[in-house]
Amino acid sequence: MSTPFPQRPTGDTQFDFSGDSTDVVEYVTSKCAWCDQSSLVLLPADRVRRWQTTGAYVQVMFPELIPDQRELLISGTHPACWDVMFAEVEDEEEPSQSG
Ligand SMILES: [Zn+2]
Repeated sequence: MSTPFPQRPTGDTQFDFSGDSTDVVEYVTSKCAWCDQSSLVLLPADRVRRWQTTGAYVQVMFPELIPDQRELLISGTHPACWDVMFAEVEDEEEPSQSG
C-alpha cells in the first residue's frame, strides 16, 4: 500500500491517513505554549476544509488521531512539551524525604 503523502524532512509532523485518497494540505498549527514553535502537519485537504468550515470537533473529523495528536492540532502544544510542563508541576509537589 503506497502512501499519498510526500516525504517530509524531519521536524514536520506526519500522520498516516492511508485511507484517504485525496490531496493533502500543509496545516500550520498554533504556536506551542511551551517552546513557542508551530508545527507543520500534513492533512487530507477535504477533511481540513470540512473541519474549518463546520467547526466540527477534531476527534470527529480525525478519529484516527491519538489524543496527543489532536491536542497538537487544537492548541499547537507538542506531546513532548506537555510532558515537560507536567514534569515541572509535579516536581513542585514532590515530597521532601531528606533527613
Ligand atoms: Zn513545543
